[in-house]
Amino acid sequence: MVYKVTLIPGDGIGPEITEATRRVLEATGVDFKWDIHNAGADVIAEHGTPLPRHVLDSIRKNRVALKGPVTTPVGFGFRSVNVAMRKALDLYVCLRPCKSYTGAPSNYKDVDIVVVRENTEDLYAGIEFEKGSAGAARLIELLKETQDITAGKDAGFSIKLISERGSRRIVRYAFDYARLNKRKKVTAVHKANILKYSDGLFLAVAREVAKDYADIEFEDRIVDNMTMQLVRRPQQFDIIVAPNLYGDILSDLCAGLVGGLGVAPGGNIGDNAALFEPTHGSAPKYKGQNKVNPMAMMLSGMMMLRHIGEEEAAVKLEAAIATVIAAGRDVTYDLLPPAEQGRAVGTSQVADAIIKEMGG
Ligand code: NAD
Repeated sequence: MVYKVTLIPGDGIGPEITEATRRVLEATGVDFKWDIHNAGADVIAEHGTPLPRHVLDSIRKNRVALKGPVTTPVGFGFRSVNVAMRKALDLYVCLRPCKSYTGAPSNYKDVDIVVVRENTEDLYAGIEFEKGSAGAARLIELLKETQDITAGKDAGFSIKLISERGSRRIVRYAFDYARLNKRKKVTAVHKANILKYSDGLFLAVAREVAKDYADIEFEDRIVDNMTMQLVRRPQQFDIIVAPNLYGDILSDLCAGLVGGLGVAPGGNIGDNAALFEPTHGSAPKYKGQNKVNPMAMMLSGMMMLRHIGEEEAAVKLEAAIATVIAAGRDVTYDLLPPAEQGRAVGTSQVADAIIKEMGG
């Protein structure tokens, strides 16, 4: 069987890590037909938008995509292409596994956490009123009228939207994922003690959904306490489910527990399509240097293999990556102590070592 997959190389370090990832995926023996499309600032001149329609059409058609990071220029006319893609395709799950690999630089051992982050709502819903705008003035009036809250004209607003439907589908996904992957516990993270009508709703829905999964343990944590407990004893956590903002922050924290962004993969998943990409960004300062770690994107590719049902290939690829990390010879600078970084290899050499490990 040949899998048709939309491939978006991205920009910055994107094209190098995408090429390294394409090579290891093909070396697993699975057949791919890559449908290559580009997005981001580099395509604006040609298409008039950073996210041309043909990119979304391709993902809708193929239902699976692998993507390198795309730069979001600061103060440059468009909101993040990444956020726009997740919204347009309703990829409401952001799945970020954070797992200890022996040899990766970390103060912790045996961490195996999967962060299930809601991907469409919360403060990322794009509901914002700029200071001094007509919308902000109306909101200031409404706050005075309905809440007896006085906000000054110098205030800007970003509104947190949490819905029952959005909460239900992400919590359900977390429990279904737990069941399917023989996980034991789901921890819902929130700040419901303060944010009663947004996080409070999320927590109430999570408690209700948990009743349908008696075989999986359920608990909840207030987000500030959660960060402290994650740093003290991360091994106590299994699956974390959280609204968008906490999920974003906690997944970076968890990546830090297991060796950093170079080994932190991710998937954006919806009912009709899935897009796999590393957690990290386009690291523009390293562009074109054959320097950065391609493993986060390769592990995202491994998640994609699992998603399309190629479990055996996924296991083989993950094992080869784990072996290369453990051997510590063919690794990039980020996986070495500062004193040893002079002996780091480049992006494409990491791919060579992994392919060799798989018998290629
Ligand atoms: P970044 O993740 O690109 O880089 C932060 C630092 O992490 C880098 O300077 C580098 O030291 C390290 N790093 C990142 N990836 C690495 C790798 N594979 N190997 C080794 N080290 C690595 O974050 P940033 O600098 O905040 O963002 C740069 C751009 O990327 C921004 O425009 C941002 O909007 C964008 N971004 C895109 C995505 C995406 O496409 N999904 C995600 C995050 C950020």
